[in-house]
Amino acid sequence: MNPFAYSRPDSIDSAIDELVTEPAAKFIGGGTNLIDLMKENIEKPSRLIDINRLPLTDIVELPDGGLRLGALATNADTAYNPLVKERYPLLSQTILAGASPQLRNMATNGGNLFQRTRCYYFYDTSMPCNKRKPGSGCGALNGYNRIHAILGTSDSNPLTTCIATHPSDMCVALAALEAVVRVEGPNGERTVAMADFHRLPGNEPQYDNTLQPGEIVTAIDLPANGFAQHYNYLKLRDRASYAFALVSVAAGLELEGNTVTNARIALGGVAHKPWRKTEAEELLVGKEAVAANFRPVAEKLLEGAKGYGHNTFKIDLAKRAIVRALTEAVTMQKATPQ
Ligand SMILES: Cc1cc2nc3c(=O)[nH]c(=O)nc-3n(C[C@H](O)[C@H](O)[C@H](O)COP(=O)(O)OP(=O)(O)OC[C@H]3O[C@@H](n4cnc5c(N)ncnc54)[C@H](O)[C@@H]3O)c2cc1C
Ligand code: SF4
Repeated sequence: MNPFAYSRPDSIDSAIDELVTEPAAKFIGGGTNLIDLMKENIEKPSRLIDINRLPLTDIVELPDGGLRLGALATNADTAYNPLVKERYPLLSQTILAGASPQLRNMATNGGNLFQRTRCYYFYDTSMPCNKRKPGSGCGALNGYNRIHAILGTSDSNPLTTCIATHPSDMCVALAALEAVVRVEGPNGERTVAMADFHRLPGNEPQYDNTLQPGEIVTAIDLPANGFAQHYNYLKLRDRASYAFALVSVAAGLELEGNTVTNARIALGGVAHKPWRKTEAEELLVGKEAVAANFRPVAEKLLEGAKGYGHNTFKIDLAKRAIVRALTEAVTMQKATPQ
């Protein structure tokens, strides 16, 4: 691990000032991802700006019926918050499907948005990786790519190729719920729709998201509609717990009788960002909520999917997972999180 300075600002403005003055510094929340990356010499911040004294831990109701999740509220406090459990059980269920109780007690909502890919070659500094070292190549393309992306990949130019996935569970539910990320920086405050927060690799796989230099995430806003009646997070992985998703599906439905009036579906484990396609969701509106109508939705969501050998199984797996997740969302076979 490289030497680094440490500071602990007590206001958002001073945290931003510190980052603007020292761009090679990094904020630290729970440290559950950043410290691992520092130990592996992948992240080498000149300073850790510990943001845990900032007043960003609250979860509060919004006048429009939504909920604001502080960036420093832990994943555990968020998942077990009574309002989240009651009005956004999809989010609660999704957070509890990730990591372990100990990690969720430390991990913050802000930090969860920024967790980096679990691509083996990103972590192995002896291997080429365009995300870790732009222009060096991609070890995964012709390597062991079982956990890698099948949608939205960048593979035409060896110097910019990246087929990594975003590993977060929580972000998949946030995408389905159309959450909004609140950001502050040297130019003031702004909001970013969840759909625009993470990015596809394109020609610059080194960038995971659209945050600008000097900016900090202060909160995540949930819209009023939490799809609390018919929801499901289906996470398929190699172990039943403490493992990242190979494929995951966050689904929310609104029904009149058995007819779908509104649908949201986001996929995890398949792309560089949570994967959503509104055209696929619209296919369901006005249709009966039955498996026969879910299959075309799955086909639409996976349109253009491409496997790289070891991960090709994910294409069919994702289609089946979508049908199952929606079927379970209708019948509510999963227990509401306790
Ligand atoms: C063994 C293990 C298993 C895991 N399994 C899962 C899993 O199954 N599913 C899952 O979703 N996750 C999993 N995780 C990842 C875990 O959820 C993340 O590490 C955690 O959410 C990161 O939050 P943190 O507060 O600890 O972030 P930190 O490590 O403190 O920070 C991560 C990054 O975010 C930046 N950052 C933090 N807060 C802010 C902010 N407010 N504004 C701007 N930048 C900020 C930091 O600068 C840093 O770059 C696992 C982690 C481990 C170690
Ligand atoms: S898939 Fe992306 S993160 Fe993984 S080795 Fe290739 S460039 Fe690096």
